[in-house]
Amino acid sequence: MRFHFPVIIIDEDFRSENTSGLGIRVLAEAIEKEGMEVLGVTSYGDMTSFAQQQSRASAFILSIDDEELVQEPEESIAELRSFVEEVRMRNADIPIFLHGETRTSSHIPYDVLRELHGFIHMYEDTPEFIARYVTREARAYLDALPPPFFRALTNYAADGSYSWHCPGHSGGVAFLKSPVGQMFHQFFGENMLRADVCNAVEELGQLLDHTGPVAASEHNAARIFNCDHLYFVTNGTSASNKIVWHSVVAPGDIVIVDRNCHKSVLHSIIMTGAIPVFLKPTRNHYGIIGPIPKEEFRWDNIMRKIAAHPFAREAKGKPRVLTITQSTYDGILYNVEAIKEELDGKVENLHFDEAWLPHAAFHDFYGDYHAIGADRPRCKESMIFSTQSTHKLLAGLSQASQILVQDAEALRLDRSVFNEAYLMHTSTSPQYSIIASCDVAAAMMEEPGGTVLVEESITEALNFRRAMRKLEKELAKNQDRQWWFKVWGPDDQSDIEEREAWMLKPGDRWHGFGNLAEGFNMLDPIKATIITPGLDVSGEFSERGIPAAIVTKYLAEHGVIVEKCGLYSFFIMFTIGITKGRWNTLVTALQQFKDDYDRNHPLWKVLPEFIAKCPRYERVGLKDLCEQIHRVYKDNDVARLTTEMYVSNMEPAMRPADAFAKLSHREIERLPISDLEGRITAVLLTPYPPGIPLLIPGERFNRTIVRYLEFVRDFNCAYPGFETDVHGLIKGENGDYYVDCVTSPA
Ligand SMILES: *Cc1c(COP(=O)(O)O)cnc(C)c1O
Repeated sequence: MRFHFPVIIIDEDFRSENTSGLGIRVLAEAIEKEGMEVLGVTSYGDMTSFAQQQSRASAFILSIDDEELVQEPEESIAELRSFVEEVRMRNADIPIFLHGETRTSSHIPYDVLRELHGFIHMYEDTPEFIARYVTREARAYLDALPPPFFRALTNYAADGSYSWHCPGHSGGVAFLKSPVGQMFHQFFGENMLRADVCNAVEELGQLLDHTGPVAASEHNAARIFNCDHLYFVTNGTSASNKIVWHSVVAPGDIVIVDRNCHKSVLHSIIMTGAIPVFLKPTRNHYGIIGPIPKEEFRWDNIMRKIAAHPFAREAKGKPRVLTITQSTYDGILYNVEAIKEELDGKVENLHFDEAWLPHAAFHDFYGDYHAIGADRPRCKESMIFSTQSTHKLLAGLSQASQILVQDAEALRLDRSVFNEAYLMHTSTSPQYSIIASCDVAAAMMEEPGGTVLVEESITEALNFRRAMRKLEKELAKNQDRQWWFKVWGPDDQSDIEEREAWMLKPGDRWHGFGNLAEGFNMLDPIKATIITPGLDVSGEFSERGIPAAIVTKYLAEHGVIVEKCGLYSFFIMFTIGITKGRWNTLVTALQQFKDDYDRNHPLWKVLPEFIAKCPRYERVGLKDLCEQIHRVYKDNDVARLTTEMYVSNMEPAMRPADAFAKLSHREIERLPISDLEGRITAVLLTPYPPGIPLLIPGERFNRTIVRYLEFVRDFNCAYPGFETDVHGLIKGENGDYYVDCVTSPA
């Protein structure tokens, strides 16, 4: 495999017809003769592009001109120093050489020299000799880059041996035999297909047994993430959660679960036959799901809940696992040390679903507000698990995920037992590109680069928030009923580089979660919830409003896809893939929206793609449509309804696994919404937004939930194109919606 990493020469004379220019070009040619590419540039250029520069180079040669050093010593040394510092901040290993006259080196301060691989004396050695030296160092640097599995995979794909094993496409050859296959081959390229190998290839190791290069990579990632054990998972954190659960939970066990959890955790409850006791999060008037209050974690409160639970009170033993969504969809984090202190030894396994938080271990900003990392104390008795979607915030391919484990003082993970559960949820034909991306995503976070990547996403998120505030202030100067989008976050913006500014303090008005405990929750600033006008802080509907669903449709037609959408809020995040100013596109699109809204431009003009699908809105103005939908929300008091349904009392009538068994045995009735009250659901009911399960198998429909479903039905009928999707509702031919409920005893 040939990678393209040029030796970058920075010399202001690189293109000049003088002795210095000739000299450096002779050196460049000599390096090329050694088989390396060379890129010559004449200045340090724009500081902002360093991140890319250092990652695409195999070495730097920086020319220092003696004359310049003598004439402007401070300036040229400052320039050199800041370049070297910028590179070293991200990359401790890339070779940097200084090139100049012998006298020159004595002018360079020690702190700069220390960071260099060598000083090339211009006239003392032949260009060929210097080129061999530079090339050797550059090659050694590149050779050390790939982590174990990625290294083995690239070597395997390059060696071109014929394969008799599956996959059946034989390194891509099968595709070449058909026209559409040819297209596929050309699109994905040779390497992707050569690297798609099967687990019969012994030299790559086995994911399912954690051997060979796979094991070496998992070991490497465990070191980088500072945990005792780390497992790559190639079918998402959905599978990671099920693996963790199946490794510790059996039928009839009590488990303590965040009600605001991902559906994979509810699937785990069903699959393991556990008895869930739920912890309830708060919600604010914007409909944002808040933290579970600290009191809910108190052991006496948990015991009280267990004692009041119709099934759990009869079960024996300690709760087997507690699962918390660590970073809710809106970016709220818990102080993990506080939870450990309260529940160590009380709950056997503390599991943090950190699908959205794999970055936190790499920046001090997050302190104790993530599960596992450097210098974090062990529990005495409880094991700590963290499941992370490498693909959500780091650079993993879709489905790349990992499980991190921290042993307790008194107990180590039994890896063979754990692996039995791992095998239960892992395909015997894992996708090797995903394994390689788990490997590389971890290696990318190796210090010092990892911290810089996280720092950059925080910085960009803060810049975005500042820009939105600034626009708001400017608009406010123009009296005349101005409005603008708000980014949800602390009102006081003075020290937002500090964690303290992001803490959810008791009674703070901005978060609206009331009297939270001191030092227990923070907001991750890289998750930005943008609030559209329509609901005021107290939860009352304003006279006018702009439902978020319309804004996000508009944004989508302007090339901005948002992560999640609520009634009057939508959500974006700043991953390590963020670039400076990419958020500018969003800010510009929001300004365009405001402009089109204020002028009430017709939809055929502002949402042409949507109108192609839903022509009935063709002549409706953007503002008028917002008003119409806002009025419907307001008349139905939907904000309160959706809040109440989530905090309403969900009565468990059957164990989730038993209710689901009724589905498997078809002992179910498909009931219309009007007949649901009091009946037991056999399926998971999940409204989008917010994508949080509302009712789980075995629970009874209450009046509030039925009222919500009636609203959804009527709204979907009145406003096609803006349908609320509720997973679990089945649309009948007559347009009504149905839910599969457990057959009631005759
Ligand atoms: C996305 C998500 C998951 C599932 O992760 P995948 O990698 O998509 O399978 C689990 N938990 C939470 C909280 C999530 O947001």
